[in-house]
Amino acid sequence: MCSVGGPMDIDIPPDRVKPKDYRCNECSERFKGIGKNPICPSCQSEDVTEI
Ligand SMILES: [Zn+2]
Repeated sequence: MCSVGGPMDIDIPPDRVKPKDYRCNECSERFKGIGKNPICPSCQSEDVTEI
């Protein structure tokens, strides 16, 4: 068994998604959301504000 000796490929996403804090404008629930259009986990409203 010959090892190739190439560089190790470590699979790291180039831009890791970080959760942001949001607050729901409907029920004032605070939650962490990922993506551009997070949805309130409490009332499923899309009317949320990043805090
Ligand atoms: Zn809500």
